[in-house]
Amino acid sequence: MRPDVVFPRRRIAVFVDGCFWHCCPIHGNEPRANTDYWGPKLARNVARDRAVDEALLADGWTVIRAWEHEEPASIADRVARALAEVADRQPHAR
Ligand SMILES: [Zn+2]
Repeated sequence: MRPDVVFPRRRIAVFVDGCFWHCCPIHGNEPRANTDYWGPKLARNVARDRAVDEALLADGWTVIRAWEHEEPASIADRVARALAEVADRQPHAR
């Protein structure tokens, strides 16, 4: 559950979530086999993701969640925007 990329001074955590493991709305279809096993397991993953988000947000972090199916360029764009926003809020951290 560690972020994939961290900007410690800006307190930005970036997660690139796997479509299956994190139940992406496009590709995270219910598994057809062993649903008794996978259903609760995947639901726990998602619940843990949200708990991690909340803990980070409560601690003053900016959380970026990307899906593995997203274009790397669009993820990079979101990260760049978040960095710029945080820089505006925390000019001393430059
Ligand atoms: Zn996906």
